[in-house]
Amino acid sequence: MRLKDKVTIITGAGSGIGRETAILFAKEGSKIVIADVNEKAGLEVAETIKNEGGEAFFSILDVSNRAQIRQVVKDTIDKYGKIDVLINNAGIIQDALIVKMTEEQWDRVISINLKGPFNCIQAVVEPMINQGSGVILNISSIVALYGNVGQANYVATKSGLIGITKTLAKELGKKGIRVNAVAPGFIITPMTAGMPDKILEMMKEKTPLKRLGKPIDIANALLFLASDESSYVNGVVLSVDGGMVL
Ligand code: NAP
Repeated sequence: MRLKDKVTIITGAGSGIGRETAILFAKEGSKIVIADVNEKAGLEVAETIKNEGGEAFFSILDVSNRAQIRQVVKDTIDKYGKIDVLINNAGIIQDALIVKMTEEQWDRVISINLKGPFNCIQAVVEPMINQGSGVILNISSIVALYGNVGQANYVATKSGLIGITKTLAKELGKKGIRVNAVAPGFIITPMTAGMPDKILEMMKEKTPLKRLGKPIDIANALLFLASDESSYVNGVVLSVDGGMVL
């Protein structure tokens, strides 16, 4: 097992990439805290893990709510005694061309996708510093590397996460904490499943591997970055996109 006895908090673990990662990490021996705004989905993931012999609990979390993340961290320490890994995975899209984007659309995406990870990192960093170890993983996106029409708010947050990753890799390295990011390409999840077939086909064509990504593709990359196998990897942005951005 590659994460034996580790404790991992995954935000947005009720669906898509977060869900797949939670299930994979549990199979690899990690205790999982499923922190999601969607209670029904989060509870289902916790049940799935427990039914497969893993250890997990669900904790309600809106990442934009600082009091809630402090509670999740307290519950985690009370139950498992430590936090080894935080995965800042929760994210939303509210797309619009810049001429039409409302202030609400801008603010909401920033508060969940960018301030949310800030809130979560601040909440876990003290216990991680005290224990002298930890891994923080941020889910960026390849659109942070090349931009995307209609996503000024989303791309700003995903680019911001790359900046946070590199800055905190420098700030926290001496405390034994590694900070890395994954930049997924186009992954089939509830976030993207509703897109028109024409767009999905176009994305597939643009990908050298000629297929769209699956949540397990991202989960496997996160597993490497969370495990001790990557103990000298710090401050990287790992693209997992079938070679779409080269
Ligand atoms: P998803 O299937 O929509 O799952 C996101 C989960 O986060 C859902 O359970 C959602 O709950 C939850 N969530 C939403 N707002 C939240 C909040 N404020 N606090 C806590 N949880 C919240 O999305 P996904 O495709 O797996 O994406 C996961 C991450 O990967 C996101 O950061 C996304 O930007 C990034 N990403 C995805 C792709 C892709 O192609 N799918 C590509 C690049 C990057 P509800 O269902 O109730 O909203």
